[in-house]
Amino acid sequence: MSRMGIAAVVAALALAGLPSTVAAQELRSPVECDGCIGWWYYFDHGFSRDWNCGSATYSGHTGSDYSLNGGNRAIDDDNAVVAMGAGTVVKTEDGYFDRCTQCGGANCGTGFGNGFANQVVINHGDYRMIYGHMKSGSIAVAEGDTVECGQLLGFIGSSGCSTGAHLHIEPSDAASFGTGRYTPIDPYVGECSPTAATLFLDQGAYRQMPGTECGEPPVPACPPDTFDVWTCSEDLALRRRCLEGVVSEEPCEWGCTPAGTDDVCGLPPDADGDGARADVDCDDADGGRHAGALEVCGDGIDQDCSGDDLACPPEPVPMPTVPPAGVTPGAAGTGAAPTGATSSPVTGQPAAPPPIVVGPVAQPRQEPEDEGCRVVPAGGGGWLQMLALVAWVITCTRRRRA
Ligand SMILES: [Zn+2]
Repeated sequence: MSRMGIAAVVAALALAGLPSTVAAQELRSPVECDGCIGWWYYFDHGFSRDWNCGSATYSGHTGSDYSLNGGNRAIDDDNAVVAMGAGTVVKTEDGYFDRCTQCGGANCGTGFGNGFANQVVINHGDYRMIYGHMKSGSIAVAEGDTVECGQLLGFIGSSGCSTGAHLHIEPSDAASFGTGRYTPIDPYVGECSPTAATLFLDQGAYRQMPGTECGEPPVPACPPDTFDVWTCSEDLALRRRCLEGVVSEEPCEWGCTPAGTDDVCGLPPDADGDGARADVDCDDADGGRHAGALEVCGDGIDQDCSGDDLACPPEPVPMPTVPPAGVTPGAAGTGAAPTGATSSPVTGQPAAPPPIVVGPVAQPRQEPEDEGCRVVPAGGGGWLQMLALVAWVITCTRRRRA
């Protein structure tokens, strides 16, 4: 038993009641006809005594026979055999002679389908049910079929080991069926039957048919060491429960705690006390690291548990310190400071102002003679002007001839 401690077991049983169990399916009558059955041969419990301590049986009979009124002649009436409950077809046989009057001879006896000849076997959950001696060619289901309670399986016949038209039903323990030594069960409860509880929803009166109402479908079985409440495993690493045959398990990473009814998985710890429990804290040993912590860029540490260290924004491009080509350093009129670059993005210090130079504006160099020859010197007269005029004539005349 995996339940943690006797106290926990007692609590579970008291509060939630019960370990998961199997509820047997309650069966209905296997025939549909009303009044077509005229005699009953029940399970023999020794000395030819049936479940009711009567003699409606015969020595060694391990099933329940429902005999047709009218004998083999009534086989032509197609008296329906139906599923006594929901289930799955595990076996069918068909095609055998169906008007037997004895258990033996050319076409009858135990050599034909184990004596049941034309038959259907259904898994009804806890039980495997044989429906035997049916009419040839009447089998209406196939192996593997899922059947509902009351579904047609075939018609009553007298095939195999049979002395007259009847249906033989024989439930056996599911665990032993098909092993060669299975254990037939008397579906009836009575003073001379060892069966603890009837397999029928309404087994009916002695020498009458069971009721035709269907019972609840079977509840799938749960493993014997499971419960219908969450229960810690022995190592407290998980909790488990079983509902209607389905076992569920939940891992408990931080341990399972018995809690009376539903045991609970423990909460994760907060080892570094930073308010983030271990299941969400990317480093439960470092109080500076958890979701929501201040992230520092570029330090190689993921403080806020985002998965990566935050990258710092790229540095702005610094101002060029060398004038563009073609501009003479110090030339007036070209040194206006660029707008928007008043401080260094690197140092935070004010930018050095562009140099301001006072002086003549640089001009492309020209031959002084060219400039001097464009305009005839003029002036207010006197000898100085005359001297300049003579010099102009001499110089400029010579250059124009050149
Ligand atoms: Zn029988």
